[in-house]
Order: sequence, then C-alpha cells, then structure tokens
Amino acid sequence: MKYIVALDQGTTSSRAILINEKGELVGIEQKEFKQIFPKPGWVEHNPMEILSSQIKVFEDLIANNNVSFDSIISLGITNQRETIVLWDKDTGKPLYNAIVWQDKRTSNICEDIKKEGLEKYIKENTGLVVDSYFSATKIKWIIDNVDNVKNKIKKKKVLAGTVDSWLIYNLTSFKSHVTDFTNASRTMIYNIRTLSWDDKILDYLDIPKSILPKVLPSSSDFGTFEYKGFKIPIRGVAGDQQAALFGQACFDNGMVKNTYGTGCFLLMNTGKNMNLSSNGLLTTIACSTSNSVNYALEGSVFIAGAAIQWLRDSLKIIKNASETERISNSIDELENVYVVPAFAGLGAPYWDMYSRGAIFGLSRDTGRKHIIKATLESLAYQTKDIIDVMERDSNLKLKSLKVDGGACKNNYLMQFQSNLINSEVLRPKIIESTAMGAGYLAGISSSLWDKDKIVSNQKIDKKFNSKIDSIKRKILYKGWEKAVKRTLNWLEN
Ligand code: ADP
Repeated sequence: MKYIVALDQGTTSSRAILINEKGELVGIEQKEFKQIFPKPGWVEHNPMEILSSQIKVFEDLIANNNVSFDSIISLGITNQRETIVLWDKDTGKPLYNAIVWQDKRTSNICEDIKKEGLEKYIKENTGLVVDSYFSATKIKWIIDNVDNVKNKIKKKKVLAGTVDSWLIYNLTSFKSHVTDFTNASRTMIYNIRTLSWDDKILDYLDIPKSILPKVLPSSSDFGTFEYKGFKIPIRGVAGDQQAALFGQACFDNGMVKNTYGTGCFLLMNTGKNMNLSSNGLLTTIACSTSNSVNYALEGSVFIAGAAIQWLRDSLKIIKNASETERISNSIDELENVYVVPAFAGLGAPYWDMYSRGAIFGLSRDTGRKHIIKATLESLAYQTKDIIDVMERDSNLKLKSLKVDGGACKNNYLMQFQSNLINSEVLRPKIIESTAMGAGYLAGISSSLWDKDKIVSNQKIDKKFNSKIDSIKRKILYKGWEKAVKRTLNWLEN
C-alpha cells in the first residue's frame, strides 16, 4: 500500500494524517503547542516549536501506523493562514516569533494605510480589506522593530513567509523558499489579478521583494523533504480554509463549504470570476491544480460554536455542546424567540462593531430550552446572511452546502440550515476536510488521483433537504432580520 501524508499546521496544534492510496484516512496524530501573549492584543508562536511539533506528529504517524518511509508517495501541507515568520537565510533561525493572524499590534499601521487612501487599491488588487489580520503589516512590524533585521536585509540574509513557507524551507534543508497562491492571497501584498507580489503596496510598506517566496500553484513541486536518508516530495500546499474547500470537492462555480467551528468560515468557489464584494466579503484565491487560478468569496461568522460555549460556560444551562440537539428536538418550534450572539459586534453583511448580543421575543413560558434552541439556530441564521450576500456578489446560485467542523455533527442544526437556505446540506463521512484537501492536492500532482477520483471518494454521511415551505422560510428569516436590526449600534447613543 502507498500513502500520502498531510501535515495540518493549525493555530493551536500541529497534526499529521495518513491517507492510503484508496483515499481513506487511516491514521492521525496531533500535538498542541504554546500560545504566547506578550502584551494585550499580541499573539505569537515559537516557529521552532511549530516545526518540532510538526515533525514529531509526522514521526508518530509513521511509527504508530507501521508504514515505511518509502511507501509515502508525497506530502501535502495545510496551515493557519496569515501568520508570518522572518528568518535567517543561512542558519534557518527565526529572527522573531511568528506573529499570529489574531495579533492586533499593527492596527495603527492599518489606520495609516487607510489615511493614505490606499484602501481601494488594496481591495481591488488583493481582494482584502485593510486589517491587521493579514500578513503585510506584521512583516513591516518585524522589519521596523526587531534589532538588526534591516541590516540583515541589506546583506540579503533575510527570508519571510507564511507558515507553509517556513516549514518547507526547513523540511527541504533550506533549498526551497516557496509558497502557494492561496497563502500568498492572504498576505495583503499579493496581487491576485496579476498573480505577482504588488510593487505599489510593497513600496508603501517598505518591504523588499527579495525576502518573499516564489509563489506556485497549490498542487505542484514544492521541493523534497529529506528525512533519515529518504526523499519525500512535497506536492500540495494550501491555506486551511482553501484546503477545506478543495477537500470538500467544491471544484465548480457556486459550490460552497461552511466550517462550523468556534466561528464559521464560508467559502464559495467563483471559478475564473474575480468578484469584488459590495458587502464586505473577501475575495481570495482558491486551490489550483494548474497555473491559472480559481477565485473564491470568503465570509466568516465571528461567534458560532462560541455561542454554544457561552451556553455552557457563561449561562451554564448545558453541560456539553452535543446536548443542544436533543434539547432542540424536545420542544415545539420557536415562536418569535431569537438569540443574536453579537458578542463582539457583527461581521458580514452588517459590519457593526457597536452591535451587542440580545435575546428577543421572551414571554412567560420561555425557558432554558427555548434559549438553547434559539442560540443553536443563530448559527444557521448567520450562515444564511452570508450565503445571501455571496449569491448577490457572485451572481451565482448556491448549488449545495458542504459542511464540516465540530458543530456540523448536530443534526437539528443541519436540518434547520437546509430549511433556511432551501438547498441541500451535505455532511461528508470524513469531516477532516482541511487535511484531506492538502492530501488530495499532493495526490493529484503525484498522479495518484484526479478530481473525478476525489469526487467519487466523497462519501456522504447525511444529506439534509428543506422540510418547510417558502412562506414559513420568509417568516422565520424576517424575524431574524428584525432582531438583528434592533441590536445594531447598541453601544452608540
Ligand atoms: P475550532 O476548530 O474552531 O476549535 P471545532 O471545529 O473543533 O472548532 O468545533 C468546536 C465548536 O463547535 C465549539 O465551539 C463547540 O461549542 C461547537 N460544537 C461542537 N459539537 C457541537 C454540537 N454537537 N452541536 C453544537 N455545537 C457543537
């Protein structure tokens, strides 16, 4: 038996999965690593720990599944996006900790970019809104604030990259300084129209192009992992959300995946059309298996599974997340009870940081179970909000919604989701879409599989179809819209 290994370098843990040549997931290892919070709003990782934890899970995967190194055809990598590392070209040693996507230290640099009037240019050419979330201002911060980095840059001794780039440089014994289109598209310095690093933005931020990696299609030759005398080709690379879109086999226009985790991440494949959103969605590059790229629209919900955690940890009215399914099924349909979990303001399509959470429609007989059910339903309403604007921005009609992430196991939620969007919701048997996506990309460029094989490999665990009529659907959603409206601007006078 031959295998593909996918490394999944996430925000809180490094994982490795083993996929056999039939496309079955046969092994998995995971190791958490340290989160570093030097100051309020700052989030860092130790790049050496990212690397060592990733190698450790790789070794454990091989040892625990009794596979030989020469049975591994190739390696795929997927990673936390936007997080950035700068390192010494000769020694491979990091010049500073990795600055993580959640880190807010560069908010002031972003304000300056906006004042300079660069926002429109950045949106039109990178597909992104100006925000500290993306890599660009983090790179600038390290160059401007870490001793000796400028000097080393002059001597051409500095390299920069997202986490995939950092891993590949080390795994290939410093031979490959590369990244893929999807990761590049999250840096805010990559021009997703021309497929090149953007000189105008680089000039403004004073980031030299010489420190940046070469950008390759997600399914191509990224170099060779040299390990204990074995040579394992690295053949697939993608940022986590795009890897999940690919892992869900969303290859065609209008196909959407939603990951129901702490937040929700929705991506819609828009094919060759690069649609700029009028509703605050991001435009980004989807995984490519050739030199030309596909685009995607991306939207996220800040508080999704986190609202379920709130029921458990703050309100303490449930013991675990999964009981929300049984409780929701145990009571009648809600009449006008809505929970809007705008705990940190609202994102797309409302974009109101002054909104706050609220419960609407309480009456004498409203109890704990109603609040639980309405909170669970809020995940589906927020998802519908985003799907509606994705359809408008792309002029495409949703074909079906592929789901993954922890909360997709909830059957009540999935049925309610299908009712609301009037479209089928497909939950695959393997919900490890992210790592599978990276594995598929590697398998394709190693000529092990093609896209048809991946589609046929997708075993559906459960398909949900709408069980309500359009009048009912309208009434439900109207109530949600009314509730959201009443939370807007809550913190303003
Ligand atoms: P992340 O990767 O963001 O940590 P996961 O994909 O592991 O998240 O999903 C965990 C989230 O999903 C948690 O916020 C949890 O509250 C929620 N969750 C997990 N299982 C269920 C369930 N059966 N019903 C509803 N929510 C759930």
